[in-house]
Amino acid sequence: MKQELLAQIKEIVGEGSFSTKIADLYVYGFDASIHHRNAEVIVQPRSTEHVSRILKLANENRIAVLARGGGTGLCGSAVPLEGGIVMDMTRMNEIKEIRVEDLYCVVGPGVIYDKLNEALAPKKFFFPPTPGSGEACTIGGMVATNASGMRAIKYGATRDYVLGLEVVLANGEITRVGTRTIKNSSGYQLERLFVGSEGTLGVITEVTLKIAPKPKKSAMAVAAFDSLEKAGKCVSAIIAKPLIPSAIELMDKICIKAVNKTMHVGFPDCEALCLIEVDGEPKVVEDEVKEVHQICKDVGAISVEFSTDPKQMNAWTAGRKAVLPALSRYGPEYVSVSLADDMSVPISRIPETVVAFQRIAERNNVIVGTYGHAADGNLHTKMLLNPLSPESWKNGEKAVAEIFDAVIEVGGTVTGEHGVGISKAPYMQKERSEALRSMEIIKKALDPNDILNPGKLGEWKGSIIRHLRYPCRID
Ligand SMILES: Cc1cc2nc3c(=O)[nH]c(=O)nc-3n(C[C@H](O)[C@H](O)[C@H](O)COP(=O)(O)OP(=O)(O)OC[C@H]3O[C@@H](n4cnc5c(N)ncnc54)[C@H](O)[C@@H]3O)c2cc1C
Repeated sequence: MKQELLAQIKEIVGEGSFSTKIADLYVYGFDASIHHRNAEVIVQPRSTEHVSRILKLANENRIAVLARGGGTGLCGSAVPLEGGIVMDMTRMNEIKEIRVEDLYCVVGPGVIYDKLNEALAPKKFFFPPTPGSGEACTIGGMVATNASGMRAIKYGATRDYVLGLEVVLANGEITRVGTRTIKNSSGYQLERLFVGSEGTLGVITEVTLKIAPKPKKSAMAVAAFDSLEKAGKCVSAIIAKPLIPSAIELMDKICIKAVNKTMHVGFPDCEALCLIEVDGEPKVVEDEVKEVHQICKDVGAISVEFSTDPKQMNAWTAGRKAVLPALSRYGPEYVSVSLADDMSVPISRIPETVVAFQRIAERNNVIVGTYGHAADGNLHTKMLLNPLSPESWKNGEKAVAEIFDAVIEVGGTVTGEHGVGISKAPYMQKERSEALRSMEIIKKALDPNDILNPGKLGEWKGSIIRHLRYPCRID
Protein backbone atom coordinates (compact mmCIF):
# COMPACT_ATOMS: atom_id res chain seq x y z
CA MET A 1 0.00 0.00 0.00
CA LYS A 2 1.38 3.44 -0.88
CA GLN A 3 2.83 5.58 1.96
CA GLU A 4 0.56 8.46 0.98
CA LEU A 5 -2.54 6.30 1.44
CA LEU A 6 -1.28 4.94 4.77
CA ALA A 7 -0.75 8.52 5.94
CA GLN A 8 -4.36 9.39 5.00
CA ILE A 9 -5.67 6.35 6.92
CA LYS A 10 -3.58 7.27 9.97
CA GLU A 11 -4.90 10.80 9.84
CA ILE A 12 -8.50 9.48 10.08
CA VAL A 13 -8.10 7.21 13.15
CA GLY A 14 -5.07 8.81 14.83
CA GLU A 15 -1.64 7.47 15.72
CA GLY A 16 -2.73 5.19 18.61
CA SER A 17 -5.36 3.38 16.52
CA PHE A 18 -3.15 2.58 13.53
CA SER A 19 -0.39 0.01 13.06
CA THR A 20 1.83 -1.38 10.34
CA LYS A 21 4.14 -3.16 12.80
CA ILE A 22 5.09 -6.62 11.54
CA ALA A 23 4.01 -8.29 14.80
CA ASP A 24 0.54 -6.66 14.63
CA LEU A 25 0.08 -7.56 10.95
CA TYR A 26 0.99 -11.17 11.77
CA VAL A 27 -1.31 -11.45 14.79
CA TYR A 28 -4.27 -9.89 12.98
CA GLY A 29 -3.76 -12.43 10.17
CA PHE A 30 -5.31 -15.16 12.35
CA ASP A 31 -8.75 -16.04 13.59
CA ALA A 32 -9.44 -19.36 15.37
CA SER A 33 -9.40 -21.32 12.10
CA ILE A 34 -6.63 -23.26 10.36
CA HIS A 35 -5.92 -20.28 8.05
CA HIS A 36 -3.58 -17.29 8.16
CA ARG A 37 -2.70 -14.38 5.90
CA ASN A 38 -0.94 -11.13 6.84
CA ALA A 39 -2.79 -7.83 6.72
CA GLU A 40 -1.09 -4.63 5.47
CA VAL A 41 -2.45 -2.17 8.01
CA ILE A 42 -4.53 -2.42 11.19
CA VAL A 43 -6.96 0.32 12.24
CA GLN A 44 -9.20 0.57 15.29
CA PRO A 45 -12.04 2.96 14.45
CA ARG A 46 -13.87 4.58 17.36
CA SER A 47 -16.85 6.00 15.47
CA THR A 48 -19.12 5.39 12.49
CA GLU A 49 -17.54 8.41 10.88
CA HIS A 50 -14.08 6.78 11.09
CA VAL A 51 -15.46 3.65 9.44
CA SER A 52 -17.18 5.67 6.73
CA ARG A 53 -14.09 7.73 5.85
CA ILE A 54 -11.83 4.66 5.72
CA LEU A 55 -14.25 2.76 3.49
CA LYS A 56 -14.60 5.73 1.12
CA LEU A 57 -10.82 5.93 0.80
CA ALA A 58 -10.44 2.16 0.39
CA ASN A 59 -13.16 2.05 -2.24
CA GLU A 60 -11.60 4.87 -4.27
CA ASN A 61 -8.24 3.07 -4.14
CA ARG A 62 -9.62 -0.48 -4.55
CA ILE A 63 -8.10 -1.68 -1.25
CA ALA A 64 -9.49 -4.74 0.55
CA VAL A 65 -11.12 -4.11 3.95
CA LEU A 66 -11.87 -6.76 6.56
CA ALA A 67 -14.04 -5.86 9.57
CA ARG A 68 -12.88 -7.90 12.55
CA GLY A 69 -14.56 -8.54 15.90
CA GLY A 70 -13.04 -10.87 18.49
CA GLY A 71 -11.26 -12.98 15.86
CA THR A 72 -12.88 -16.15 17.27
CA GLY A 73 -14.28 -17.32 13.92
CA LEU A 74 -13.49 -20.97 13.24
CA CYS A 75 -13.52 -21.04 9.43
CA GLY A 76 -11.26 -18.18 8.29
CA SER A 77 -13.96 -15.56 7.77
CA ALA A 78 -11.79 -13.00 9.63
CA VAL A 79 -8.55 -13.85 7.80
CA PRO A 80 -7.57 -11.01 5.41
CA LEU A 81 -7.07 -13.11 2.30
CA GLU A 82 -6.08 -10.17 0.12
CA GLY A 83 -4.13 -8.26 2.75
CA GLY A 84 -5.33 -4.65 2.79
CA ILE A 85 -6.93 -3.01 5.83
CA VAL A 86 -8.05 -4.95 8.89
CA MET A 87 -10.59 -2.87 10.77
CA ASP A 88 -10.63 -4.00 14.41
CA MET A 89 -14.12 -3.04 15.66
CA THR A 90 -13.55 -3.77 19.35
CA ARG A 91 -13.17 -0.12 20.36
CA MET A 92 -16.77 0.56 19.29
CA ASN A 93 -17.93 -1.27 22.40
CA GLU A 94 -20.49 1.00 24.01
CA ILE A 95 -23.76 -0.38 25.41
CA LYS A 96 -25.80 2.64 24.37
CA GLU A 97 -29.31 1.83 25.61
CA ILE A 98 -31.13 -0.92 27.50
CA ARG A 99 -34.89 -0.56 27.31
CA VAL A 100 -36.46 -3.57 29.02
CA GLU A 101 -39.92 -1.99 28.75
CA ASP A 102 -39.52 -2.03 24.95
CA LEU A 103 -37.61 -5.34 24.89
CA TYR A 104 -34.54 -4.02 23.13
CA CYS A 105 -31.01 -2.76 23.61
CA VAL A 106 -28.71 -0.76 21.33
CA VAL A 107 -25.02 -1.63 21.26
CA GLY A 108 -21.81 -0.93 19.39
CA PRO A 109 -20.52 -3.87 17.26
CA GLY A 110 -17.48 -4.37 19.50
CA VAL A 111 -19.44 -5.23 22.66
CA ILE A 112 -18.45 -8.70 23.94
CA TYR A 113 -21.36 -11.15 24.26
CA ASP A 114 -20.78 -11.93 27.97
CA LYS A 115 -20.40 -8.22 28.82
CA LEU A 116 -23.81 -7.49 27.31
CA ASN A 117 -25.37 -10.25 29.38
CA GLU A 118 -23.62 -8.95 32.53
CA ALA A 119 -25.28 -5.58 31.88
CA LEU A 120 -28.70 -7.20 31.25
CA ALA A 121 -28.61 -9.60 34.23
CA PRO A 122 -29.56 -7.10 37.01
CA LYS A 123 -32.68 -6.27 34.99
CA LYS A 124 -33.51 -10.02 34.77
CA PHE A 125 -33.09 -10.03 30.98
CA PHE A 126 -30.63 -11.67 28.59
CA PHE A 127 -29.55 -11.95 24.97
CA PRO A 128 -29.94 -15.73 24.62
CA PRO A 129 -27.86 -17.18 21.73
CA THR A 130 -25.07 -18.44 24.11
CA PRO A 131 -22.11 -19.16 21.82
CA GLY A 132 -19.32 -21.21 23.39
CA SER A 133 -17.01 -18.24 22.69
CA GLY A 134 -19.19 -15.77 24.64
CA GLU A 135 -16.24 -14.47 26.68
CA ALA A 136 -14.50 -13.17 23.56
CA CYS A 137 -16.79 -12.86 20.54
CA THR A 138 -18.43 -9.54 19.68
CA ILE A 139 -22.01 -8.70 18.83
CA GLY A 140 -20.87 -7.45 15.38
CA GLY A 141 -19.16 -10.77 14.70
CA MET A 142 -22.22 -12.66 15.94
CA VAL A 143 -24.51 -10.73 13.59
CA ALA A 144 -22.09 -11.16 10.68
CA THR A 145 -22.02 -14.95 11.21
CA ASN A 146 -25.55 -15.48 12.55
CA ALA A 147 -23.96 -17.06 15.61
CA SER A 148 -25.95 -19.14 18.06
CA GLY A 149 -25.18 -21.88 20.53
CA MET A 150 -26.55 -24.48 22.89
CA ARG A 151 -29.88 -22.71 23.52
CA ALA A 152 -30.91 -22.10 19.88
CA ILE A 153 -33.53 -24.87 19.94
CA LYS A 154 -35.64 -22.87 22.39
CA TYR A 155 -34.41 -19.30 21.97
CA GLY A 156 -33.26 -19.09 18.34
CA ALA A 157 -30.10 -17.67 16.74
CA THR A 158 -28.72 -14.12 16.54
CA ARG A 159 -30.85 -13.58 13.41
CA ASP A 160 -34.00 -13.85 15.55
CA TYR A 161 -32.90 -10.94 17.75
CA VAL A 162 -31.64 -8.40 15.21
CA LEU A 163 -34.26 -5.64 15.00
CA GLY A 164 -32.13 -2.98 13.33
CA LEU A 165 -28.62 -2.16 12.19
CA GLU A 166 -26.51 0.80 11.26
CA VAL A 167 -24.23 -0.28 8.43
CA VAL A 168 -21.53 1.50 6.45
CA LEU A 169 -21.57 0.41 2.82
CA ALA A 170 -18.46 -0.17 0.69
CA ASN A 171 -18.55 3.39 -0.72
CA GLY A 172 -18.63 4.89 2.79
CA GLU A 173 -22.37 5.63 2.80
CA ILE A 174 -23.97 5.24 6.25
CA THR A 175 -27.34 3.48 6.20
CA ARG A 176 -29.92 2.31 8.74
CA VAL A 177 -31.93 -0.85 8.18
CA GLY A 178 -34.71 -2.38 10.30
CA THR A 179 -36.43 -0.69 13.24
CA ARG A 180 -36.54 -0.58 17.04
CA THR A 181 -39.91 -2.29 17.15
CA ILE A 182 -40.58 -5.94 17.86
CA LYS A 183 -42.74 -6.21 14.74
CA ASN A 184 -42.02 -4.67 11.36
CA SER A 185 -43.47 -5.40 7.92
CA SER A 186 -42.35 -2.24 6.21
CA GLY A 187 -40.63 -3.37 3.05
CA TYR A 188 -37.61 -5.56 2.47
CA GLN A 189 -36.19 -6.97 5.74
CA LEU A 190 -32.74 -5.65 4.91
CA GLU A 191 -31.38 -6.11 8.44
CA ARG A 192 -31.64 -9.84 7.75
CA LEU A 193 -29.52 -9.48 4.60
CA PHE A 194 -26.52 -8.42 6.66
CA VAL A 195 -26.97 -11.29 9.14
CA GLY A 196 -24.52 -14.00 8.08
CA SER A 197 -22.90 -11.79 5.43
CA GLU A 198 -19.44 -12.25 7.02
CA GLY A 199 -18.32 -8.69 6.37
CA THR A 200 -18.83 -8.99 2.59
CA LEU A 201 -21.74 -6.53 2.23
CA GLY A 202 -21.05 -3.73 4.71
CA VAL A 203 -19.48 -2.89 8.07
CA ILE A 204 -21.93 -3.05 11.00
CA THR A 205 -21.48 -0.04 13.30
CA GLU A 206 -24.53 -0.33 15.58
CA VAL A 207 -26.93 -3.14 16.47
CA THR A 208 -30.45 -2.98 17.93
CA LEU A 209 -31.18 -6.33 19.55
CA LYS A 210 -34.35 -7.81 20.96
CA ILE A 211 -33.80 -9.12 24.51
CA ALA A 212 -35.62 -11.83 26.47
CA PRO A 213 -36.56 -12.30 30.14
CA LYS A 214 -34.28 -14.73 31.97
CA PRO A 215 -35.90 -18.08 32.85
CA LYS A 216 -36.68 -18.44 36.57
CA LYS A 217 -35.29 -21.92 37.03
CA SER A 218 -33.27 -24.52 35.18
CA ALA A 219 -32.22 -28.13 35.64
CA MET A 220 -29.64 -30.25 33.88
CA ALA A 221 -29.16 -33.95 33.26
CA VAL A 222 -26.24 -36.04 32.12
CA ALA A 223 -27.51 -39.17 30.34
CA ALA A 224 -24.95 -41.83 29.43
CA PHE A 225 -25.32 -44.28 26.50
CA ASP A 226 -23.53 -47.37 25.22
CA SER A 227 -23.73 -46.16 21.61
CA LEU A 228 -23.59 -42.85 19.79
CA GLU A 229 -26.67 -43.85 17.84
CA LYS A 230 -28.75 -44.26 21.03
CA ALA A 231 -27.64 -40.80 22.20
CA GLY A 232 -28.78 -39.44 18.81
CA LYS A 233 -32.12 -41.23 19.21
CA CYS A 234 -32.54 -39.69 22.66
CA VAL A 235 -32.34 -36.20 21.11
CA SER A 236 -35.12 -36.78 18.57
CA ALA A 237 -37.25 -38.68 21.12
CA ILE A 238 -37.21 -35.66 23.48
CA ILE A 239 -38.12 -33.23 20.68
CA ALA A 240 -40.86 -35.52 19.31
CA LYS A 241 -42.46 -35.92 22.77
CA PRO A 242 -43.09 -32.85 22.24
CA LEU A 243 -40.72 -31.19 24.70
CA ILE A 244 -38.52 -28.24 23.79
CA PRO A 245 -35.53 -28.25 26.15
CA SER A 246 -33.29 -25.18 26.43
CA ALA A 247 -30.34 -27.33 25.32
CA ILE A 248 -29.20 -30.84 24.48
CA GLU A 249 -25.48 -31.20 24.02
CA LEU A 250 -24.16 -34.45 22.61
CA MET A 251 -20.60 -35.74 23.14
CA ASP A 252 -19.01 -38.91 21.78
CA LYS A 253 -16.43 -41.01 23.64
CA ILE A 254 -13.45 -39.19 22.10
CA CYS A 255 -14.75 -35.86 23.43
CA ILE A 256 -15.72 -37.35 26.83
CA LYS A 257 -12.25 -38.86 27.29
CA ALA A 258 -10.50 -35.63 26.28
CA VAL A 259 -12.62 -33.50 28.66
CA ASN A 260 -12.32 -35.94 31.60
CA LYS A 261 -8.55 -35.98 31.14
CA THR A 262 -8.13 -32.21 31.16
CA MET A 263 -11.05 -30.84 33.20
CA HIS A 264 -11.83 -33.56 35.80
CA VAL A 265 -15.56 -32.95 35.36
CA GLY A 266 -16.29 -36.62 36.03
CA PHE A 267 -18.48 -37.28 33.02
CA PRO A 268 -19.45 -41.00 32.89
CA ASP A 269 -16.98 -43.14 30.93
CA CYS A 270 -19.30 -44.24 28.09
CA GLU A 271 -19.69 -44.30 24.30
CA ALA A 272 -21.76 -41.10 24.22
CA LEU A 273 -23.65 -38.75 26.49
CA CYS A 274 -26.36 -36.12 26.28
CA LEU A 275 -26.23 -33.04 28.50
CA ILE A 276 -29.87 -31.96 28.68
CA GLU A 277 -31.07 -28.62 30.07
CA VAL A 278 -34.68 -27.56 30.71
CA ASP A 279 -35.71 -24.13 31.97
CA GLY A 280 -38.75 -21.98 32.75
CA GLU A 281 -41.28 -21.72 35.59
CA PRO A 282 -40.29 -23.98 38.56
CA LYS A 283 -43.35 -26.26 38.20
CA VAL A 284 -42.74 -26.68 34.45
CA VAL A 285 -39.07 -27.51 35.08
CA GLU A 286 -40.06 -30.12 37.68
CA ASP A 287 -42.47 -31.83 35.23
CA GLU A 288 -40.02 -31.69 32.33
CA VAL A 289 -37.24 -33.25 34.43
CA LYS A 290 -39.52 -36.27 35.02
CA GLU A 291 -40.39 -36.51 31.33
CA VAL A 292 -36.75 -36.26 30.22
CA HIS A 293 -35.75 -38.93 32.73
CA GLN A 294 -38.38 -41.34 31.38
CA ILE A 295 -37.40 -40.70 27.73
CA CYS A 296 -33.70 -41.27 28.46
CA LYS A 297 -34.55 -44.61 30.10
CA ASP A 298 -36.88 -45.59 27.23
CA VAL A 299 -34.14 -45.10 24.63
CA GLY A 300 -31.69 -47.14 26.70
CA ALA A 301 -29.63 -44.74 28.81
CA ILE A 302 -27.17 -46.56 31.08
CA SER A 303 -27.42 -43.80 33.69
CA VAL A 304 -29.15 -40.43 34.13
CA GLU A 305 -28.00 -37.87 36.72
CA PHE A 306 -29.96 -34.66 37.35
CA SER A 307 -28.95 -31.44 39.09
CA THR A 308 -30.47 -28.06 39.86
CA ASP A 309 -27.34 -26.92 41.72
CA PRO A 310 -25.90 -23.97 39.76
CA LYS A 311 -22.34 -25.04 40.72
CA GLN A 312 -22.79 -28.52 39.31
CA MET A 313 -24.61 -27.25 36.21
CA ASN A 314 -21.84 -24.71 35.56
CA ALA A 315 -19.20 -27.44 35.93
CA TRP A 316 -20.96 -29.65 33.37
CA THR A 317 -21.39 -26.70 31.00
CA ALA A 318 -17.72 -25.77 31.39
CA GLY A 319 -16.83 -29.38 30.60
CA ARG A 320 -18.84 -29.26 27.42
CA LYS A 321 -17.36 -25.90 26.44
CA ALA A 322 -13.88 -27.32 26.94
CA VAL A 323 -14.25 -29.97 24.23
CA LEU A 324 -12.45 -27.91 21.60
CA PRO A 325 -9.29 -27.10 23.59
CA ALA A 326 -9.32 -30.47 25.38
CA LEU A 327 -9.17 -32.36 22.07
CA SER A 328 -5.90 -30.63 21.27
CA ARG A 329 -4.34 -32.52 24.18
CA TYR A 330 -5.53 -35.89 22.86
CA GLY A 331 -2.00 -36.95 21.86
CA PRO A 332 1.36 -35.24 21.34
CA GLU A 333 1.35 -35.39 17.54
CA TYR A 334 -2.22 -34.18 17.05
CA VAL A 335 -3.98 -30.83 16.99
CA SER A 336 -7.72 -30.50 16.82
CA VAL A 337 -8.63 -28.55 13.69
CA SER A 338 -11.91 -26.95 12.72
CA LEU A 339 -12.72 -28.77 9.49
CA ALA A 340 -16.27 -29.94 8.75
CA ASP A 341 -16.93 -28.61 12.21
CA ASP A 342 -20.42 -27.22 12.19
CA MET A 343 -23.07 -28.94 10.12
CA SER A 344 -26.78 -28.97 10.84
CA VAL A 345 -29.13 -31.78 9.86
CA PRO A 346 -32.85 -32.40 10.37
CA ILE A 347 -33.05 -33.53 14.00
CA SER A 348 -34.41 -37.00 13.21
CA ARG A 349 -31.41 -37.68 10.94
CA ILE A 350 -28.85 -37.23 13.75
CA PRO A 351 -28.44 -40.96 14.62
CA GLU A 352 -27.59 -42.07 11.05
CA THR A 353 -25.43 -38.97 10.47
CA VAL A 354 -23.22 -39.47 13.53
CA VAL A 355 -22.76 -43.13 12.59
CA ALA A 356 -21.81 -42.04 9.02
CA PHE A 357 -19.18 -39.66 10.49
CA GLN A 358 -17.60 -42.52 12.44
CA ARG A 359 -17.37 -44.69 9.30
CA ILE A 360 -15.93 -41.82 7.24
CA ALA A 361 -13.26 -41.22 9.89
CA GLU A 362 -12.25 -44.88 9.94
CA ARG A 363 -12.19 -45.10 6.13
CA ASN A 364 -9.93 -42.05 5.84
CA ASN A 365 -7.62 -42.87 8.73
CA VAL A 366 -8.43 -39.72 10.72
CA ILE A 367 -9.64 -39.29 14.28
CA VAL A 368 -12.92 -37.39 14.48
CA GLY A 369 -14.54 -36.24 17.71
CA THR A 370 -18.28 -35.58 17.40
CA TYR A 371 -20.26 -33.30 19.70
CA GLY A 372 -22.66 -30.43 19.28
CA HIS A 373 -25.84 -28.59 20.05
CA ALA A 374 -27.77 -31.66 18.96
CA ALA A 375 -31.20 -30.43 20.09
CA ASP A 376 -31.44 -28.29 16.95
CA GLY A 377 -29.59 -30.75 14.71
CA ASN A 378 -26.30 -28.80 14.90
CA LEU A 379 -23.35 -31.21 15.02
CA HIS A 380 -19.72 -30.32 15.51
CA THR A 381 -16.82 -32.54 14.60
CA LYS A 382 -13.19 -31.84 15.30
CA MET A 383 -10.53 -33.60 13.33
CA LEU A 384 -7.33 -34.58 15.07
CA LEU A 385 -4.56 -34.19 12.49
CA ASN A 386 -0.80 -34.01 12.47
CA PRO A 387 -0.47 -30.40 11.27
CA LEU A 388 3.05 -30.99 9.90
CA SER A 389 2.07 -33.92 7.71
CA PRO A 390 0.73 -33.20 4.19
CA GLU A 391 -0.70 -36.73 4.14
CA SER A 392 -2.67 -36.06 7.32
CA TRP A 393 -4.14 -32.88 5.79
CA LYS A 394 -5.03 -34.71 2.55
CA ASN A 395 -6.80 -37.46 4.52
CA GLY A 396 -8.61 -34.77 6.47
CA GLU A 397 -9.74 -32.94 3.35
CA LYS A 398 -11.07 -36.17 1.83
CA ALA A 399 -12.98 -36.93 5.04
CA VAL A 400 -14.38 -33.37 5.05
CA ALA A 401 -15.76 -33.79 1.51
CA GLU A 402 -17.38 -37.11 2.45
CA ILE A 403 -18.84 -35.68 5.68
CA PHE A 404 -20.41 -32.76 3.83
CA ASP A 405 -21.77 -35.08 1.12
CA ALA A 406 -23.42 -37.14 3.88
CA VAL A 407 -24.85 -33.97 5.43
CA ILE A 408 -26.22 -32.59 2.16
CA GLU A 409 -27.62 -36.06 1.33
CA VAL A 410 -29.90 -35.97 4.44
CA GLY A 411 -31.06 -32.42 3.70
CA GLY A 412 -28.62 -30.65 6.01
CA THR A 413 -26.46 -27.56 5.75
CA VAL A 414 -22.64 -27.35 5.92
CA THR A 415 -22.77 -24.71 8.64
CA GLY A 416 -25.33 -24.20 11.36
CA GLU A 417 -23.67 -21.32 13.21
CA HIS A 418 -19.94 -20.73 12.56
CA GLY A 419 -20.33 -19.46 8.99
CA VAL A 420 -18.55 -20.26 5.75
CA GLY A 421 -15.22 -18.36 5.59
CA ILE A 422 -12.68 -20.34 3.61
CA SER A 423 -12.98 -23.76 5.24
CA LYS A 424 -16.51 -24.37 4.05
CA ALA A 425 -16.74 -22.26 0.91
CA PRO A 426 -16.62 -25.03 -1.76
CA TYR A 427 -19.19 -27.08 0.12
CA MET A 428 -21.49 -24.09 0.72
CA GLN A 429 -21.31 -23.50 -3.04
CA LYS A 430 -22.36 -27.13 -3.59
CA GLU A 431 -25.18 -26.89 -1.04
CA ARG A 432 -26.46 -23.53 -2.25
CA SER A 433 -25.74 -23.91 -5.97
CA GLU A 434 -29.17 -22.53 -6.93
CA ALA A 435 -28.76 -19.40 -4.79
CA LEU A 436 -25.20 -18.49 -5.79
CA ARG A 437 -26.23 -16.28 -8.72
CA SER A 438 -28.56 -14.24 -6.50
CA MET A 439 -25.77 -13.88 -3.92
CA GLU A 440 -23.40 -12.64 -6.65
CA ILE A 441 -25.96 -10.04 -7.81
CA ILE A 442 -26.45 -8.72 -4.26
CA LYS A 443 -22.69 -8.56 -3.65
CA LYS A 444 -22.10 -6.71 -6.95
CA ALA A 445 -24.86 -4.21 -6.16
CA LEU A 446 -23.57 -3.36 -2.67
CA ASP A 447 -19.83 -3.74 -3.23
CA PRO A 448 -19.13 -3.31 -6.96
CA ASN A 449 -15.36 -3.04 -6.49
CA ASP A 450 -15.23 -6.15 -4.29
CA ILE A 451 -13.31 -4.52 -1.44
CA LEU A 452 -15.24 -6.05 1.47
CA ASN A 453 -13.68 -9.29 2.70
CA PRO A 454 -12.85 -10.34 -0.88
CA GLY A 455 -12.29 -13.96 -1.83
CA LYS A 456 -14.76 -15.44 0.66
CA LEU A 457 -18.11 -17.23 0.47
CA GLY A 458 -19.06 -17.67 -3.22
CA GLU A 459 -15.70 -16.31 -4.40
CA TRP A 460 -13.41 -18.94 -2.88
CA LYS A 461 -12.18 -21.47 -5.46
CA GLY A 462 -10.14 -24.62 -4.96
CA SER A 463 -8.91 -26.57 -1.96
CA ILE A 464 -9.75 -25.61 1.64
CA ILE A 465 -6.33 -26.60 2.95
CA ARG A 466 -4.61 -23.48 1.67
CA HIS A 467 -3.22 -20.45 3.51
CA LEU A 468 -2.61 -22.73 6.49
CA ARG A 469 -1.41 -21.30 9.80
CA TYR A 470 0.89 -24.32 10.19
CA PRO A 471 4.34 -24.62 8.56
CA CYS A 472 3.28 -27.41 6.22
CA ARG A 473 3.55 -27.18 2.44
CA ILE A 474 0.81 -28.94 0.54
CA ASP A 475 1.14 -29.12 -3.24
C1 LIG B 1 -13.95 -21.92 21.59
C2 LIG B 1 -14.93 -21.42 20.57
C3 LIG B 1 -16.27 -21.75 20.69
C4 LIG B 1 -17.19 -21.29 19.75
N1 LIG B 1 -18.51 -21.59 19.94
C5 LIG B 1 -19.41 -21.08 19.09
C6 LIG B 1 -20.80 -21.34 19.29
O1 LIG B 1 -21.21 -22.02 20.22
N2 LIG B 1 -21.68 -20.80 18.41
C7 LIG B 1 -21.26 -20.03 17.36
O2 LIG B 1 -22.11 -19.55 16.62
N3 LIG B 1 -19.97 -19.79 17.14
C8 LIG B 1 -19.03 -20.28 17.97
N4 LIG B 1 -17.71 -20.04 17.75
C9 LIG B 1 -17.31 -19.28 16.55
C10 LIG B 1 -17.23 -17.76 16.74
O3 LIG B 1 -17.03 -17.44 18.09
C11 LIG B 1 -18.47 -17.05 16.22
O4 LIG B 1 -18.54 -17.20 14.82
C12 LIG B 1 -18.54 -15.55 16.57
O5 LIG B 1 -19.78 -15.05 16.19
C13 LIG B 1 -17.45 -14.73 15.90
O6 LIG B 1 -17.45 -13.44 16.49
P1 LIG B 1 -16.15 -12.54 16.50
O7 LIG B 1 -16.48 -11.24 17.12
O8 LIG B 1 -15.00 -13.26 17.04
O9 LIG B 1 -15.97 -12.32 14.92
P2 LIG B 1 -14.67 -12.49 14.02
O10 LIG B 1 -14.15 -13.88 14.11
O11 LIG B 1 -13.73 -11.38 14.27
O12 LIG B 1 -15.33 -12.27 12.58
C14 LIG B 1 -16.25 -13.21 12.06
C15 LIG B 1 -16.87 -12.64 10.77
O13 LIG B 1 -17.66 -11.51 11.12
C16 LIG B 1 -17.26 -10.36 10.37
N5 LIG B 1 -17.43 -9.19 11.23
C17 LIG B 1 -17.00 -9.01 12.50
N6 LIG B 1 -17.39 -7.81 12.95
C18 LIG B 1 -18.07 -7.20 11.94
C19 LIG B 1 -18.70 -5.95 11.78
N7 LIG B 1 -18.75 -5.07 12.77
N8 LIG B 1 -19.28 -5.66 10.58
C20 LIG B 1 -19.26 -6.57 9.57
N9 LIG B 1 -18.68 -7.76 9.67
C21 LIG B 1 -18.09 -8.09 10.83
C22 LIG B 1 -15.81 -10.63 9.98
O14 LIG B 1 -15.45 -9.94 8.82
C23 LIG B 1 -15.83 -12.13 9.75
O15 LIG B 1 -16.29 -12.40 8.47
C24 LIG B 1 -16.76 -20.50 18.65
C25 LIG B 1 -15.40 -20.18 18.53
C26 LIG B 1 -14.49 -20.64 19.46
C27 LIG B 1 -13.05 -20.27 19.30
